[in-house]
Parts: sequence; structure tokens; C-alpha cells
Amino acid sequence: MIYNSITYVTISINVSVSSTAALVVKELSILLSLTVYDNCSGGGLLSYSESQSESITGSPASNTNSDVPAKKKVIVLGTGWGGTSFLKDLDASLYDVQVVSPCNYFAFTPLLPSVTCGTVEARSIVEPVRNMVKKRKGDIKFWEAECLKIDHANKTVLCRSNIGNNLVGSGEFSLEYDYLVVAIGAQVNTFNTPGVKEHCHFLKEVEDAQKIRRAVIDCFEKAVLPSLSDEERRTNLHFVVVGGGPTGVEFAAELHDHFQEDLVNLYPSVKDFVNITVIQSGDHILNTFDERISLFAEEKFGRDGIKVQTGRRVISVDDKNITMKAKSTGEIYSVPHGLVIWSTGIATRPVVRDFMEQIGQGKRHVLATNEWLRVKGCESVYAIGDCSSIDQQKIMDDISAIFEAADKDKSGTLTVAELKDVLDDIIVRYPQFELYLKSKHILDLSTLWKDSEGNYREEIDIEGFKMALSHMDSQMKSLPATAQVASQQGEYLARCFNRMHQCEEHPEGPRRFKGSGRHTFLPFRYKHFGQFAPLGGEQAAAELPGDWVAMGHSTQWLWYSVYASKQVSWRTRMLVISDWTRRFIFGRDSSRI
Ligand code: FAD
Ligand code: MG
Repeated sequence: MIYNSITYVTISINVSVSSTAALVVKELSILLSLTVYDNCSGGGLLSYSESQSESITGSPASNTNSDVPAKKKVIVLGTGWGGTSFLKDLDASLYDVQVVSPCNYFAFTPLLPSVTCGTVEARSIVEPVRNMVKKRKGDIKFWEAECLKIDHANKTVLCRSNIGNNLVGSGEFSLEYDYLVVAIGAQVNTFNTPGVKEHCHFLKEVEDAQKIRRAVIDCFEKAVLPSLSDEERRTNLHFVVVGGGPTGVEFAAELHDHFQEDLVNLYPSVKDFVNITVIQSGDHILNTFDERISLFAEEKFGRDGIKVQTGRRVISVDDKNITMKAKSTGEIYSVPHGLVIWSTGIATRPVVRDFMEQIGQGKRHVLATNEWLRVKGCESVYAIGDCSSIDQQKIMDDISAIFEAADKDKSGTLTVAELKDVLDDIIVRYPQFELYLKSKHILDLSTLWKDSEGNYREEIDIEGFKMALSHMDSQMKSLPATAQVASQQGEYLARCFNRMHQCEEHPEGPRRFKGSGRHTFLPFRYKHFGQFAPLGGEQAAAELPGDWVAMGHSTQWLWYSVYASKQVSWRTRMLVISDWTRRFIFGRDSSRI
């Protein structure tokens, strides 16, 4: 994912592409300067250690006056993209902040596929949470534990530490909260496919990537043993990736590079037995990307010898075979495998599911929040990142209230001028309104006032108004489960927390169409900065805002530049860049450790 301004594109397009070692060194120096440029220009969105957030103060808790009530207790669950981004920007001196997570580090997940083949080392992409929190203003307490239950009625969370059985003391504790920020991400979705949990590798956590790295080497070491038949070697070296989304595709590309650049020289006797297959249930891989990128990726994989099987659904996996069904013909067949990577999407974690049952969201797939990221039906609980989804308010649900608010003269009809008076509030509260106008290229609001025969009307009644706005809700889209969304939500929520008191007195949000007054805060608005798909062989594809699509070698350098700049500290940035340099010069390390 990229987070930066278009300046990047302009610069990196000029970066020359080369495969020679000398030029690689030259290009790395360009990359370094790009990285420095990025951070100087303020683009380092997540540079925790370097950039202290501009905290917007004003809460009573910052006041040292003894009449001031005790600080409100904020509990943050999770230290992934959402949780750490919230902590980075929160003015922790305003609250009593406690963080609970079974991971005492933040992992830069976009580089996990690179860890599976040793392109970068696991420790290069993680930052200890304690490093991050000690740099924050105020006192943040971190507890390495898992939240087992959110007790909504009593405003407590029950937690348990999973640290060493031989250590004394109980690991169970419960914490009270005034505000709870749920940022515990999601878990792998197996779709209850038999055998997946037992026989597939996942690529979700750092440990998963480390396990895959060892397993890949195991496949090669086993395949070269003298006692094996050719068929057995072929089976052991059949790598199957289930899921043709960005993670699955990137892993397949990484593995192919690892094989071509390193393993082919180390295991020459089995080089002709290696096969990589990507299985995708849809018609194309990377189907959330622009069509041009999907096709580019499929063609590139075709040239590289990576088999892409689309329109297939995996129905079971065992230790030897993966069984799938062709959607078009209904044919069921099995293929022997050496290693299967399951990368097909995410599901709700049990603790969130239990919480959803408590608050009457049991029938939903994912925890719903409003546009202010507050969990629906819970005053004091917020949810960000992969564990939640924003339930955008429909215009049609509020249409009568909007009409009434706009109809200032209470005539029972609405003129364009009347609508214009409340337009700003409508656009902020219902972003689909603006998206609709843009998608239909409507510049003049009076277009909405046309009747079915295309004649302009001076005024419209409620039925006419409903008709005019009836298609706008079709523009509502749920946000993708990405780091980009989670981190923007964390930042937004921190800004709200920092200005809680100030905004309660002087609300900054749009008017309430149902009810009176204004909303305390502006709603969360996601800005999409584009997305990357590394495709191996020093080539990548990128989808940039404004329908820009870039593909090829220069895009890979753009990828290097962006991912280096997005590291959370100078320490990890230097580690990642030095890993890339090491890989260019010496190749990847194939030791099975
Ligand atoms: P996470 O980052 O998953 O964090 C969840 C946190 O909650 C973790 O710290 C976890 O330890 C903790 N936790 C779990 N259970 C509990 C519990 N019971 N109690 C307390 N804490 C708990 N997104 C992009 O935008 N660009 C990319 O290139 C990209 N590449 C990806 C590559 C891979 C391999 C993967 C797996 C994901 C990738 N993503 C990418 C998606 C991105 O990582 C997620 O969208 C993002 O991590 C979501 O952030 P989050 O804070 O919701 O959850
Ligand atoms: Mg009127």
C-alpha cells in the first residue's frame, strides 16, 4: 500500500532500471535519497520514533487543577496497525492508557511475504511496543496478554497472559475501562474447509512467515534425498498457493524469485521438478485491482511458469493432496502437494464474536461501528481496523428528516436554493451524495429537480425528493481490510480523543438531521492512496489515485521507496534497506534455522 503524495511517482518514474550489481548499488543510493526526501517532506506517516504527533490539547485531564476529575481510563486492545497508529497520535497525558496485546511488537505486515523467503529478516520488520510507548508523552502501560472477554455490562476486559508455565504468579487479570478501543484485527478464514487448519500454512503473523521459510527449505532438502523417485521429488516441490489476492500473489512471486535466484544453484538436481500453482476461485487473480493489473500479473506469471488456476474452489486438503472443484464443469480432482499456503481472507476473532453477541450484533459478519468508529449500540467502545466495519448511514433512511430540515419555509416543497443551504452538512454526513454527483457528472443541483420526462421543476415535494436521491446509497462501499484503513482510523480516533472536551463544548461535526444540534466530531473519512502488487523479477504493479496504473521495473523501485519510508522507525528502516542490499549482493540465506 502506498500512503504518499504523487510526488513519489514523478520521482521514481525517472529511476533507471538495471539488473547489474553496480547499478543496483547506484539505485539503492537513489532509493535512500528518496526515503530521506520522503521523511523530510513529512510523508513518513508512521514514523513513530521520529515524528511526535501534533497533539491537539484542551481536555480537562491535562489540567493540573485538583478539582479536575481523575483521568478517564482508556484500554487499547491490540498492537497492530490500528492500535499502534492510535497510540502514536494519542496525547497520552490526557488519559490513563493501558494496552493489552499478546504480541509485544508491531509487525509491518506488508513485508511478511518477503520474510517467507528471507528477502528480509523477521526482526527487521518488527518494532517492540515498549520502544514505541516509552517515546510517547504521558504514561502508557503495556500488558502482554490476550483479551479473553469484553464484559460490556461491567465495562471490563478479562485478560490472560500466555507467558511461560513455569513462571510463578497468576496470568489472569481484569481491567476496567471508561473507553475501550478494540483493534485486535482478524483471524484467517478457512471457510471450514476440511484439513486446512491441519495441513496448510497461513501467512498472517511473523511466526507464520518464519515457519514457511523453514518449510520451503524442508521441501527442497527432502526432494534431493537419494531415495526418492522423480514423482516424489515433483510432489515435494509442488507449492500451492490458495488465494489469488495480493498476499497470495506476492508470496508466489517471492517464492519464484527465491527459486530462480538462489535455490536453483543450490539444488540443481531438482530444478526441473519445481512447480508453483496459484488457485483462485474468481476468474482472475488480483481481482480487487484494476483489470490491466490483473492481466499484467497473469501474463507475467505465465511467462515465469507460475500456473494460475482460476474458477477453482478448494474443498479439502490432506497431508498429501489438495482437492478442488472446477466451478464451470463441477469436476472434482486432487493434486499432490509439498506445501500449501492458505491465503483466502479473514474472519472475526472469537472474542469479538462473543462481544457482538452481547451487544445484539450476533447476526452480523463483522463488528459494526458508526462513521465516528464508535461500536453501534455501545457508547464507550470504539473499534478500528480489520475487526470492524463502518455501517454508513443511508440517505434513504433519513430522507424525511433531511427534507424537513432543508424545507426552511415549511412549505412542504423544496427548492434548489433550500437544499443548497444544508448541502455542506449533507455532504459531510452522507459522502455517497457527493460520490453520486461525481459519478454522474452532475455539476448543477437543479439536474436533480428534473421530472421523469426531463423537465426542470421549481420545487419538489417529498416524493420527488425521494426519487431524486433514490440511487445515491448505491455509492456506499465498505472499506477494505488493509493497513492503510486501520492506520488512518487509528490516527482519526486519536485526534478525536485528544479534542474530546473541546469538541463536546464546540461540536465540529455536521448538523444532526434526526434530532437537534451538531455531531461532536467530523465523521471518519478514508483517503485511498493506492495499492501495490509486487510481481517478482523486480517488477511490480501499482494502482494510484485518479485511475493511474503503473507496472514494471520502475514501479518496483517506487515500491522499495514507499515501503522503506513507511517503516515505523529509523532502526527498522535501516534493517530493511540493509536486508535488501544484502540480498542483491549475496542472495538469500537458505539455512534452515
Ligand atoms: P492487526 O494489524 O492484525 O493487529 C491486531 C493486533 O491485535 C495484533 O497486535 C494482535 O496481536 C492483537 N490481538 C489479537 N488477538 C488479541 C486479543 N484477543 N487481545 C488483545 N490483542 C489481540 N495491508 C495493506 O494496506 N498493504 C499491504 O501491503 C498489506 N499486506 C499484507 C500482507 C500480509 C501477509 C498480511 C497478513 C496483511 C497485509 N495487509 C496489508 C493487511 C494489514 O496487515 C491489515 O489490514 C492490518 O494489519 C489490520 O490492522 P489491525 O490493527 O486491524 O489488525
Ligand atoms: Mg420549502
